[in-house]
This record gives sequence, C-alpha cells and structure tokens, in this order.
Amino acid sequence: MSEDVPDIALELRRHLAWQESDGTRTLLKDPSLQPRVVPPPASRSPSPAPVGEGRGKSVPQALAQQPAASGAIRTLDEIRTELGDCKRCKLCEGRKQIVFGVGNPRAELVFVGEGPGEEEDKQGIPFVGAAGQLLTKMIEAMGFKRDEVYICNVVKCRPPGNRNPEGDEIQACEPFLKAQLGAIRPRVIVALGKFAAQTLLRVDTPITRLRGQWRAYEGIQLMPTYHPAYLLRQPDEKKKAWMDLQEVMKKFGREPKK
Ligand code: SF4
Repeated sequence: MSEDVPDIALELRRHLAWQESDGTRTLLKDPSLQPRVVPPPASRSPSPAPVGEGRGKSVPQALAQQPAASGAIRTLDEIRTELGDCKRCKLCEGRKQIVFGVGNPRAELVFVGEGPGEEEDKQGIPFVGAAGQLLTKMIEAMGFKRDEVYICNVVKCRPPGNRNPEGDEIQACEPFLKAQLGAIRPRVIVALGKFAAQTLLRVDTPITRLRGQWRAYEGIQLMPTYHPAYLLRQPDEKKKAWMDLQEVMKKFGREPKK
C-alpha cells in the first residue's frame, strides 16, 4: 500500500498539469470525475520496447485476417522499410522527413492524429510541438507514460503550411496507417480529431458528433476525441476531451474515483 503513495502523488501532479490553464478545473471539484490510480490489467506488453522494434509476439487467429497491402501482418520495421523514401503523394515535395510513428510497438493504447507539423517535420517524431506537449500531458493524466503508448498520424508527411491533408494524400498514406495498427493491434485506439476519426471509421460525420462515442475499427475499440491542436485553440473543449479520455481509462481499469 505504501508503494502506491508516490504514484498517487505523481498521478495527481500529472492530472493537475493538464488541467492548468483550461476549463477542466470545475471537473476537478467533482470527486466522481477524478481518476483513481489503479494498476493496469495484466498487460501483453510488460515493458516498452524501443521505437521501431518488431513485435516478436504470436499473432492471434483473428489478427491473421487483418488486411495489409501484402495480405500479411508485418512488423513496424517492415512497414517502415516498405514506406522507404515515399513519394506516393505530393506531400513528399515539402517535407524534411517522413514522420512514421513513435512509441511502444506492443502498445495497448494507440493515438492517431492528423499529420506532422513544423516541429514534427524537423524532428521526425509525431506530436512534439505545442499540441504534442498537450497530448503528452493528456496521456500522463490518464496514468500512462508516453513511451508506453504508440503515436502516429494519418499522413506521415507535413502538409505545407499545416493545411489539412487532402483526400488523395490520405488515400495514399492510409494503407501504412492500417498496417501500423494491424502490426500493433492495440486494445484501444484514440482518434484525435476529424481526420483520424473519419479516415478510420470511413464516415464523414463531424467530430463534434463522433467524439465521446465508442466505435470499432477492425474489431478494435476506438474513441474519437478532439485533436490537441484544436484544444489549444478552444481550451473550453478540454472538459469534453477529458471526459472522452476517462472513458478510455475505464477500459484499462482506471475508473474515476467514486
Ligand atoms: S504522406 Fe504518406 S503517402 Fe504521401 S509521401 Fe508522405 S509517406 Fe508517402
């Protein structure tokens, strides 16, 4: 029991850090909405593996049918190799580098965003700019470490001027996102924003209607919520995003305190 005390303190600090300067403080006053620190359920992934490392685990029967361009399950390394110096769409023209994905290749929780921004393009890592810092706080507020989860985007190259990715670009890059998700096969996917949610769910429903509702992607539970970049512009919406993330926490036995 005494071992839990530092973790609880750390958890509260992380949680409060995300609530800073946003509209969720009122939720903090509601004890029913405060997260309870509960150890994660028996995990398939006891320790994070280095970025890009293959899974090295057996493939469940259902997963054997997971679609991939080659018809077979590939490791993240193999998918990255196949992507190569990709020029399959016009986003290759302005990019500094491809931003493939980062995190635990055996993650039970995957966050999918829209596309790299300027800082991500520079560093080759998704979600490292201002929106990425907010995402990291969100992940930590949920009781995860950033390197326990996997983070990637719908398109792997920065759209010029941070414009929205276009249909042909999404279509060109989507097979690699699907392959990544097929390789990781997480328990839960969080779709960050309209492009991730609409691409994965093959709908054109606005994110305002999709968010907060459990969906399924290839048999994987998917929670759409707002993109952190949107939350930076509309901090009042963080309350709703936090409610969505609490639903995800429940799937991992991290129930809000009663
Ligand atoms: S966005 Fe995707 S499909 Fe387009 S060039 Fe980059 S990696 Fe290739």
